[in-house]
Amino acid sequence: TDADTDLLIVGSGFFGLTIAERAATQLGLKATIIERRGHIGGNAYSEIDPETGIEYHKYGAHLFHTSNERVWEYVNQFTSFTNYQHRVYATHNGEVFPLPINLGTVNQFFRAAYGPDEARALIAEQAQELGGKEPENLEEKAISLIGRPLYEAFIKGYTAKQWQTAPTKLSPEIITRLPVRYTYDNHYFKDTHEGLPVDGYTPWLERMADHPNIEVRLNTDFFDESQPLNKTAMAGKVPIVYTGPIDRYFDHTLGALSWRTLDFEKEVKPTGDFQGCAVMNYSDEDVPFTRIHEFRHFHPERDYQTEKTLIMREYSRFAGGGDEPYYPVNTPEDREKLEGYRKLAEAEPNVLFGGRLGTYKYLDMHMAIGSALSRFDNVVRGWFA
Ligand code: FAD
Ligand code: UDP
Repeated sequence: TDADTDLLIVGSGFFGLTIAERAATQLGLKATIIERRGHIGGNAYSEIDPETGIEYHKYGAHLFHTSNERVWEYVNQFTSFTNYQHRVYATHNGEVFPLPINLGTVNQFFRAAYGPDEARALIAEQAQELGGKEPENLEEKAISLIGRPLYEAFIKGYTAKQWQTAPTKLSPEIITRLPVRYTYDNHYFKDTHEGLPVDGYTPWLERMADHPNIEVRLNTDFFDESQPLNKTAMAGKVPIVYTGPIDRYFDHTLGALSWRTLDFEKEVKPTGDFQGCAVMNYSDEDVPFTRIHEFRHFHPERDYQTEKTLIMREYSRFAGGGDEPYYPVNTPEDREKLEGYRKLAEAEPNVLFGGRLGTYKYLDMHMAIGSALSRFDNVVRGWFA
């Protein structure tokens, strides 16, 4: 029959692929992955731009980094990594500054030559406007970390564009992803391991699925009753790993969870180098996009032609019905709905909800893979014990 599989996996992102690979190689199971899109890999998918020959990340720039040794060892089975280290710059008021905010940013901004102690003292003095109060929102948290002048230059406008929500209404955690450094170190990430897959993301993703026990069906939606592996037909037949949106699984019965989506605008420029770096953030609110990616800079080791370059502008907005969900907005109302959906999910027999959409959590790639490895051990193995 069509249901001739031991395990059904909905979604071929890193979470679903990791579960499928483990099920096939560790337990000898037959795993079938269904994927709504016309390609595997979820948001980490990349392809070669036909006009320039440059690999670009279709759903936004993806930088791999991890300090998790188990994940690092696991991913190296499928790809090797370049020694790329991510660095980001910001254009503010017609001038370019290094990010994340470091001593170089501080000194350029204040036209000064402060040492680390002087810069710390200056920021501490500026943070006094909070009067020692525990920061309760993104704005207060940012002021406590970098003072108001730097906050207004690099955070306020960018955050307004990215979240379309007042910084006083956003959670302070959002900003703690960004380090502040009193040295000139402008590496974006501080993990033990960092790099980009030598021959691109898609060959890596394809190698994970390359096993005789794994079948991938593209253009196949779990909720489409005209395809045989749909939710109604498969209920109770085989265990299911579901990596789509958790609210969609339950027909939004408790209301829709809110997401931000992104719009990407690609353009080929007739030059070998447009901006001199991979990612340039635009801090000011009068520039409508948040950042520009220039993909050739992710692979300086490659022999790309130098006649043309590919850039991609990124715009951010709230997701509507037909939009791709990218970032959980995670308001207090969302968290309340999520609690309800989690209870429903726990009561669903032999269904594992995983990954970014299935848990409504912003997960980096290494987190999605790490979570799949442990939930394979803790949940999936138990189904077949
Ligand atoms: P996804 O990759 O989203 O895969 C889910 C899959 O399920 C999708 O292919 C979807 O089409 C499919 N699906 C959904 N519903 C159905 C259905 N009903 N039927 C069939 N299939 C369905 N991580 C990093 O480590 N570094 C970065 O620099 C980075 N940058 C990012 C930038 C952006 C803009 C975004 C959005 C994410 C970024 N990430 C980054 C995170 C990374 O994309 C995720 O960690 C990873 O994609 C998570 O994998 P996943 O399998 O959970 O989800
Ligand atoms: N941020 C900012 N200015 C910047 C970069 C980031 O204000 O130039 C803030 C913004 O609120 C953003 C958060 O820091 O949502 C996290 O930034 P990160 O670069 O990690 O965002 P991501 O790459 O996940 O979109």
